[in-house]
Amino acid sequence: MRPLVIAIDAGHGGQDPGARGANGSREKNITLQIARELARQVNATPGLKAYLTRDTDVFIPLTRRYQLAREHKADLFVSIHADSFTSPEASGSSVFVLSQRGASSQAARWLAKQENEADLVGGVRLQDKDDTLASVLLDLSQSATQKASESMADQVLGGLKRLGKTHKNHIERANFVVLRSPDVPSMLVETAFISNPAEERKLNDPGHQSQLARAILDGVTSYFTRQPPPGTLYAARADAAGGAYGGGSP
Ligand SMILES: [Zn+2]
Repeated sequence: MRPLVIAIDAGHGGQDPGARGANGSREKNITLQIARELARQVNATPGLKAYLTRDTDVFIPLTRRYQLAREHKADLFVSIHADSFTSPEASGSSVFVLSQRGASSQAARWLAKQENEADLVGGVRLQDKDDTLASVLLDLSQSATQKASESMADQVLGGLKRLGKTHKNHIERANFVVLRSPDVPSMLVETAFISNPAEERKLNDPGHQSQLARAILDGVTSYFTRQPPPGTLYAARADAAGGAYGGGSP
């Protein structure tokens, strides 16, 4: 049996600090703390194995992040972020999947622009080239990947709803470069609003970071329990349960 590889991507890093909190926290530090905690919990879960795209304060271009996940044969890619907005009242967690037609709303467009600008910070203009490549890859991508991304994202949003407030009642779609793997189900989690002083405090609390990681992991394991990939512990469990979930090996 092979482990299910969960690629965990701590947003931003190095010369790209991400958003700045109302009281000065930097998104890149919070995302790394939550990503590390999620990796710890994933590795403590039978049948799962974590892969961190970064484990230090280093800059990684956006396209490289999903390439790394693909090279490590990830079954799932989760990018961890903390949201920010012009109004300090904005609050709650969000889960995004890739929108193939671009951003689904004004706010989502604004956010996508912020997250995508990271590639320029690295001093390498990958995006012009990448847009062509990405559109080809997207054309080739199987609708199954998108469907799996949405289904997983739904489960993760469910986990976050059980923990606390979500920004919207449904998953959202945006044209995030980091989600463009053609064949790895991918999602981006905005854990909370770093621009909201109360949420910034919680994002810095190791106890809350652990709960966020647990909520994300609960969503992931719910998905794999319902849709067990063949050759994994989840498939073996489904077989042992008499195919109760309708999945598993033939
Ligand atoms: Zn971010």
